[in-house]
Amino acid sequence: MIIGLQESAKLDDFNRDQKAVTIHLIGALAVRKSSTPLLPKECIFCGAWENLTGEHVFAEWLAPYLPKIGRTGHTATKTLRVLDASSLKVIRDTHFARKGTLHKRGPLKNQTLKIVCARCNTGWMSMLQGQVKPILLPILEGGWPGEIAAWERRILAAWAAMFTMVVEFSDLDTQVTPFEDRERLRLTLEPPDGWYIWIGLHAGPLWTSGFNHFAWPSIPKVYSKGQIDKAYKNDVQSTGWLVGPAFFQTISAGVPGYPVDRFAFAIRHGLRVVWPSDKLPIERPVRVMDDIAADNVTVGHLPHFYPRKTLRKAWETM
Ligand SMILES: [Zn+2]
Repeated sequence: MIIGLQESAKLDDFNRDQKAVTIHLIGALAVRKSSTPLLPKECIFCGAWENLTGEHVFAEWLAPYLPKIGRTGHTATKTLRVLDASSLKVIRDTHFARKGTLHKRGPLKNQTLKIVCARCNTGWMSMLQGQVKPILLPILEGGWPGEIAAWERRILAAWAAMFTMVVEFSDLDTQVTPFEDRERLRLTLEPPDGWYIWIGLHAGPLWTSGFNHFAWPSIPKVYSKGQIDKAYKNDVQSTGWLVGPAFFQTISAGVPGYPVDRFAFAIRHGLRVVWPSDKLPIERPVRVMDDIAADNVTVGHLPHFYPRKTLRKAWETM
């Protein structure tokens, strides 16, 4: 597994700045003894309490570019690890792998999450799907849309942020983005502060569709050994996904200054930066990633203290 050492080093600096001390707790959840948590009853984007509609995780117009058969490819893996910083000994190590809420019968294109209201679904979300379609279709067909201009970049970024915010709800324990940020996307049609988005190209027989999602805390917290499970919050998320030959990766952090070097990451993995915008057109990536390379991108920002042995490849399911 290739890990961005540079990112890890920067994260160390960041953590030092945050005066992280003796015990590091990392992972993807507040431990829950109950079964799958319930989805919210209000619209995740506007907060409306009304009948929620089933939002297709992959919009219907993307269906021709998704596998006709097969599994959703989504599992939720959670990790809780407590390190004693002075001895670097693991004092607690717990891993969970369970099916997420997207394990329904049928192919990926049929998977829905009942989390948005009809007004959002048929309003701004539908408009955004319509706007991104002419930008994305040439890529899905194996080409590139001439150049992706600055205003198109904003649409692509907003669409990728919207996708991430929806799929996050397939596993509530690793759901990170706060309501205010989802609302900001709805109102401005632009990713909120702290969002980074890349696009790449992929070809490979193993990872054919679906997404790979992780969450972790930006700042290792201090816990007394007796109270590590409570009030534990992830505030950084990473989501990578495929639609046909198009690969997307998002990182978002709920804290200012979380270290992400978007250009260095793009160069290392053969991606193009979508967001934050540098106001230049997005050119076709020069490299087509294979399965391993694409999977490496999805774990490329995981902090070095995330236990590697628990990671599954993006195409591995339960
Ligand atoms: Zn709504």
